[in-house]
Amino acid sequence: MNRDAEVNRRLFLRALGLGAASLISPIACSDSERYGEADIKKLADQKRQEKELAGKGPYGSQRFRGYRGLSELPYFELDTNQNLRCIVEGLPPIVDFHAHLGMSFLFAPKIDLLRKTERVVHFLDCDATQPGCELDLDVYINANFTEDDLASLNSESLAQGTWGSAAAATHTIPNLVAEMNAMGIQRSVVLPISLGLPFNDDSSALWSEAIETSDYANRLLPGATVHPRDPDALESLRLQIARGASALKLHPAVQRFYPDTPELRPIYEECAKAGLPVFFHGGRAGIEPEYTHRFTLIRHYEGAVAAYPEVQFVLGHAGARDVADAIPFAQKYPNIWLDTHGQGVSTLGQLIDEVGAQRLLFGTDWPFYHLGASLAKVLIVTENAPEDRWAILSGNAEKLLGQEGL
Ligand SMILES: [Zn+2]
Repeated sequence: MNRDAEVNRRLFLRALGLGAASLISPIACSDSERYGEADIKKLADQKRQEKELAGKGPYGSQRFRGYRGLSELPYFELDTNQNLRCIVEGLPPIVDFHAHLGMSFLFAPKIDLLRKTERVVHFLDCDATQPGCELDLDVYINANFTEDDLASLNSESLAQGTWGSAAAATHTIPNLVAEMNAMGIQRSVVLPISLGLPFNDDSSALWSEAIETSDYANRLLPGATVHPRDPDALESLRLQIARGASALKLHPAVQRFYPDTPELRPIYEECAKAGLPVFFHGGRAGIEPEYTHRFTLIRHYEGAVAAYPEVQFVLGHAGARDVADAIPFAQKYPNIWLDTHGQGVSTLGQLIDEVGAQRLLFGTDWPFYHLGASLAKVLIVTENAPEDRWAILSGNAEKLLGQEGL
C-alpha cells in the first residue's frame, strides 16, 4: 500500500470510529480456537496447489487477454464497439444469483445509479489496456489480481466511504443491464451488504428505490441485508421482506460475525417463516484482511445450516478457497446451494461431479468482474451436458426464488 493509501486508510478508520465502534468492534481474544495454524496452512496450501495445477486439468489451459479475449471461445464475439457479446443460441433464461451495484457510504457522494456511462470499470479492470490483462479461468478468479490491482481495489474500497470511488460510479443499473443483455442474462439478484455504520449505510433501501424507478424492475431482484449486531435487525428484515426481497445477504468477513452466532437465531427464524433464502459470503477469498479469515471457515456455518433445515442457504463462491470443505458440507446438508462464482473450470467440473449440477447456482459477483468471465466457465464445463447447463444457469435459481416446496 502506498503512503497516500495508508493515510486514507487511517482517515477512513477514524471516520468509522465516530460511532460505529460497537458495531464493527474487533474480535475478542477468546475465539482463538475458532482459527488455528492448521487453517492458516490449509489456505496457503490451496493457493500453492492451485498455481501448480492451473491449466493441467480436464479443460486444459484457459488463459485469455482481458474479457475481450473471451471472444476466442466459440460462445462469444466482439461487437462493433469491441464489447463482448454472447452468441450461444438456445440458452435458458439465465438468472445471476450474485450481483451488486455501486456502493457509497459515510462521506462519499451518492452514486447516480440510473446513469449510463461509457464503460464499466470492473474492480478487476481487465479491459482497461489493449491487450487486456491476463485472465485465467482455471484458477480461483481473484488470483488474476496483480499486486497493483489489489492496491487499487483497496483504494477504491476506501474511496467508497470518503470522496467517492470512480469505479463504483460506473456500477449502475443501466450499465449492469447492458452487460446482462450482451451476455443473455435475463435477471440478476442484487445483493446489498449492511456495513453497520452510523449513517448513510442503507444500500438495501437505496438500491430497491433505484431499481423501482429504473426501467428494469422486472430484470433486477433486490436482496435484503441486515447487520447481525444492529439492535433493529429483525424489524429491518421484516420491512425488506415486505418490500419483496428475494434473498438475505450476510457477509461474515465484512460484517465480522460467525454465522453460528446465537444473535442470528431470530433472523434465521424469520427467513424460515418467510421462505427467504440466506445468501452467505462463504469461505476465505484470500485477499481480504487476514483477521477476518476466521469468520468464514466452512465449519462455522454448520450450526446455522443444521439448526434450520427448512432454510435454504447459499454459500457464495462455493466456499471460495475453502471449496474443499464446502463440497462435503454440501453433500451432508441438502439445504445448501453453492454459487458458482469464482471457481476455476476444473473445480467447477468437480462440483458438478461431486455435489451435482442441481445444487449449483450461477453467480458473477458483478461489478468485481465482467459477467462473461463467470458465464464462460459454466459454458465450458457444460459443453456436453445441456441439462446441467440449464439447471445451473436457470432452473435451480427459479426453484429457489419460487420456493414451491423446492
Ligand atoms: Zn459478492
